[in-house]
Formats: sequence, structure tokens, C-alpha cells
Amino acid sequence: MTETSKTKLSRREFLRLAGLGVGAAAATTAARPAAATGKPTAVKFSDPAGRPQRPWWVKTVDVPTTEVDWGKMKRYNERYLPEEQEGSTRGVGFAGYVGKEKAEAIEAEGAAKMKERLVNNVDGYTLKDIALQSGMNGMRLPYSYLGPQKAKTPEDLGVPKWSGTPEEAAKMVRAALRHMGAATIGFLELDENTKKFVYDVDPDGHIVEFTDDPIASETETHRYIPNSCKYAIVFTVPMSLEAMKRSPTVTGSQTTALTYTTGTWINNGMSEFLRGLGYQCLTESTLNALAIAPALGVFAGLGEMSRLNRMISPEYGPMVRVFKMLTDLPLAPDKPIDAGIMEFCKTCKKCAEACPSGALSFEDEPTWEIKGGWNNAGHKAYFEDAVKCRTYWRQEAGTNCGICFAVCPFSKHDKAWIHTWVKGGISALPLLNSMWRSGDDAFGYGELATGESWWDLDEPSFGYDTTLMLQK
Ligand code: SF4
Ligand code: SF4
Repeated sequence: MTETSKTKLSRREFLRLAGLGVGAAAATTAARPAAATGKPTAVKFSDPAGRPQRPWWVKTVDVPTTEVDWGKMKRYNERYLPEEQEGSTRGVGFAGYVGKEKAEAIEAEGAAKMKERLVNNVDGYTLKDIALQSGMNGMRLPYSYLGPQKAKTPEDLGVPKWSGTPEEAAKMVRAALRHMGAATIGFLELDENTKKFVYDVDPDGHIVEFTDDPIASETETHRYIPNSCKYAIVFTVPMSLEAMKRSPTVTGSQTTALTYTTGTWINNGMSEFLRGLGYQCLTESTLNALAIAPALGVFAGLGEMSRLNRMISPEYGPMVRVFKMLTDLPLAPDKPIDAGIMEFCKTCKKCAEACPSGALSFEDEPTWEIKGGWNNAGHKAYFEDAVKCRTYWRQEAGTNCGICFAVCPFSKHDKAWIHTWVKGGISALPLLNSMWRSGDDAFGYGELATGESWWDLDEPSFGYDTTLMLQK
């Protein structure tokens, strides 16, 4: 029996027990009157770099809550390398880890199950679910490292390039990105350490090299990043919790497809926007290319790492995809944050309990020991067994799975006071973390739903509250 299941509480018991902590939590929140109201109190950027005010319990810190050993960390090869058993578990990587024959058998079994479910109209796998998934993918724009390169440059227009302070540039880019569909946004100036987050080899096999040549370029085999393109733009695109709660079905997975589609719009849009200002913008050449997004997100203050070995944002929890691009436009950088998320993961373990493949760690503390070649060594984390996870996707689910995201207590997409209060409590009173976890269970959060019922929901555009990052 796990620690968490031993401490299961009823809803009534949780509220009674929570009363013990209310005094302390209230004392903490009293000094920050806007904290627990859940009301947006600002509708425009209030600092010179356009950083939105975040909830009081999101503290900026000098070093992230994930320990990094820069001496051990190296730039990662995202393409699977058979000789080193290193690289992504996507595509050929999966076969590399499990063996070609086994991979084919797994794929065939998954495909047969998908066919059977479609024919039998199984909940979440019906024709309309599959058609919706196709719709999400159908909206996707082409990936391109250098962007469309169609926008008129200042030179074309006979005017000087845009100029301003890094703070003014950060505010301008935030406004543009938000308008294009990004939710939370952060910036990071790469140094010799954080450059290691940029892939050594992209997923399509291109070697990625930094160069003193001021103009970015690519060939059949290489992509060149000017050393001047050292400003990382990192942003999130949220997913629909209501869709994800239908995991693992096609209904559940289509929200992931939608975020990747939105990511391509923004990649293309920002490339053209920055070109129009007279600057370069380097984006993903393929899905998940260029750099390790969660690592950049953590250093740019968008969230903390977690037991999922993914980034959790204070605003949207794990219900985001993280995207990144590089530019030579100097941008005022952001700092990492501590919102008590990594600390909460040490006692919560809800995702690991819910994972059908047993891929997530149950260890109390994060470790330096990686699980396999799909992990990048040099940071202390809850490393996942990606082969178990991907086998489940391919053999059982037939699509991707997001159960671990959906059940996470941070996946609350609304401004209800109790959620703000609990998140504040997690940050201010970590000693009560097992109680917060029990409360999440007692209120029935993290329960999954049926695919068909999603079609009855009157969801907002894209399935999420786009004002959530304005919550105080
Ligand atoms: S996606 Fe599904 S299988 Fe993979 S770790 Fe999460 S819950 Fe487990
Ligand atoms: S479910 Fe719990 S342990 Fe897992 S990522 Fe969320 S907070 Fe952390």
C-alpha cells in the first residue's frame, strides 16, 4: 500500500482537517490580499518587460527547483542512435529500444484494436472522434527552421530595423505572442551552460551547430545557429482538460494535436513578425525539434519539473505543451520559479498511481540516475520509463495517453477560490502536502470521463480559459 492510499480522506474529513491549516494559510495570504480572490486584477502589462503579475505563491528564484550538474550535462542527440541506444522513443527510436520485430508486432496489435474499436463504435474511438483528430492535424502549418521568409524586412521597406531596450522588446514580443495564441511566455539568454538545452542533432538527423556567422542557415545535413541568436523565447499552449480527461482515447488525444497545430501557427507567425522587425527567428524544423522545451521553460520561469518528468506551470499545471524559438533580438530574461510544485510531487504520486503502464517513478526523491537513453543525464529528476509508456500508447491505447496529466492536482482549469488557496498552501505550507493530495482525492478530482460525453460540452474556444494567466 502506498503512503498516499493510506491517508485517503472523505470530503468532509478533508475540510475538517483543512481547518487546522486554514489559520496558517490565511495568515500567509492576509499579507497578500489579492491572492485568494481568484479575480483578475490587472488587464495590462504592469512592468517594463511586460511580465504579467503572477499569483503571490509563485516566487522567482536564482536557481530552479531541479538540480543541474552542468559538468555532466551535454547537448542531446534527439535522433535515435542505435550504437549508443540514445535518443527519442518516437519513430525509429521506439523500434531501436524494443527491437524491430517486437515494435512491428506491437504496432500491428494496436492497429487491430483501433480498427475493432472503430467498427464497434467504442466510446472515444468513433468515426467522429477520428475525424476530429484529422481536423486538428489538418490545420497544421509546415514546420520550418528558418520560417516562411516572406515578410517584408525593414530594408525592403527602406526604414531602419526596430530598436528598443531589451525590456521594450520583451513586452512587444509578449504582446505579439499572446495575440498569436501563446498563454504563458518567458525569455532566457543562453550561456555556455544553457546552450546545452539546444539539441546536438535534430530529430530529422540534421547536426545543429553554433557559429560566428551572423546569418542562420541550413543545408542537407546541418543547421547553423548564429551565436548572436542567443535569446530563447519559450511559451506554452494549453490543452483542454475536458478532452484530456477522456484519455486514453482519440477524443483525449486530439487536444494534444491541436496544441502542436497552434505551435506551428505561432512558429510561422513569430518568424515573420521578427523578420518584419529586422531580426532572425529560428523555430522547430519538425515536431519537438531545436531544443529541450521543458528545460528552457523551467529556466525561463514558466514552471517547474515534476514527477511526470515534464514541466508543470502554476497557471495550467501539466496541461500545456511548451514551445521554443531562438532570436538575435535582445530580450530581457526571466528567472526560474519556485511554486512548491517539485516539493509537492515528492508526496503526491497521484500520476504514478494512475499510470496504466507503470512508467512513472514512485521514488520519494528525484535522482541523478537516468532510466534510459531517452533521458538526458545531468539533472536530478523523476525519470520515466518511456518505453513502457510508448508501448502502452502503441499496443493498448492506439493513440496517445494523458491520464497522468489529467489526474494531476495542478490540472485545474478554473479560478475557483479553493484551487488558488490550495496552490498557495502547497507553496507556503509544504508540510501539509499529503493533506492537499488527500483533498484532491476527496473532492473527486482527477476522475476520468467518457469520450461521448465530451461532445455534449459547451467548451470555450480551444477548450481552455485563455485568461487564466491573468489570475492573481
Ligand atoms: S502518458 Fe499514460 S502511459 Fe504514459 S506515463 Fe502518462 S499515464 Fe503513463
Ligand atoms: S500528479 Fe502529483 S506527483 Fe504527479 S506530477 Fe502532479 S503533483 Fe506531481
